[in-house]
Amino acid sequence: MLTTMKEVLAFAEEKKTAIPAFNIDNMEIVQSILKAAEEENYPVILAVGQAAIKDGKLALLGACARVMAEKSPVPVVIHLDHGQSLEQVRLALDSGFTSVMIDGTKLPFEENIKISKETLELANAVGASVEAELGCILGVEDDISHDDNKPFLVRTEDVLAFNKEVTVDALAIGIGNAHGIYKGLPNLDFQRLSEVNDISNVPLVLHGGSGIPADMIQKAISLGIRKINVATEIRMAYVKGLTKEVESGDFYTMSNAGKAEVIALAKEKIRLFKNGNVQ
Ligand SMILES: [Zn+2]
Repeated sequence: MLTTMKEVLAFAEEKKTAIPAFNIDNMEIVQSILKAAEEENYPVILAVGQAAIKDGKLALLGACARVMAEKSPVPVVIHLDHGQSLEQVRLALDSGFTSVMIDGTKLPFEENIKISKETLELANAVGASVEAELGCILGVEDDISHDDNKPFLVRTEDVLAFNKEVTVDALAIGIGNAHGIYKGLPNLDFQRLSEVNDISNVPLVLHGGSGIPADMIQKAISLGIRKINVATEIRMAYVKGLTKEVESGDFYTMSNAGKAEVIALAKEKIRLFKNGNVQ
């Protein structure tokens, strides 16, 4: 069933778990992620990111996700990842998304507050949820990159000031996490995460979930992370499946192999996020 991010994060808060937000880049990935969520009987967030939008697929993927979500027995959220403008937020909401992220981290702090507030007004008018971001997420994904001149770790005073002005449904924070695949072990600032969690009631989001080891994921969840984004690993799994069967030269043999890899990966992530183990 289609639902909002606010609903699924309240569920995660109650259970002290995290909900995966998987990026969807085509219809087969939507099918695979929903299959994994249904087999694990767990809520899932389908995120449409900037690469898919650049590829002209915002409304298409939104519509596709909506048709499948409405038929699904598990709670499904359709989410805009790293929304770049109010224009994009409006387009997503008009396309039936139930959740939007506004990424105002490139703006001065006051303007980040302002655009987050405006996003909240647009989203609330149609009953959708909002994710905002503080601090910067390292690395590059879908042309979202970090400006080296800005401090990248979230500051507790900014979280306090932000929460005073805007009440969003989820807050993405930079604690040393990065988009793409990590070179070596990620260097996550758990002390900072714990401090933010102590002063904020807003569910926290960890971007750059691809390649973070299981024990670090468990620790992050224990310190209040309630949504974890996985994009790169999903795309890699899909491509791995297609490549495995490329010799067959057969459309469905390749397509099904791509789907099988995505289902297996999504199930592994869901089990980790909901139980804290990889079995
Ligand atoms: Zn991200």
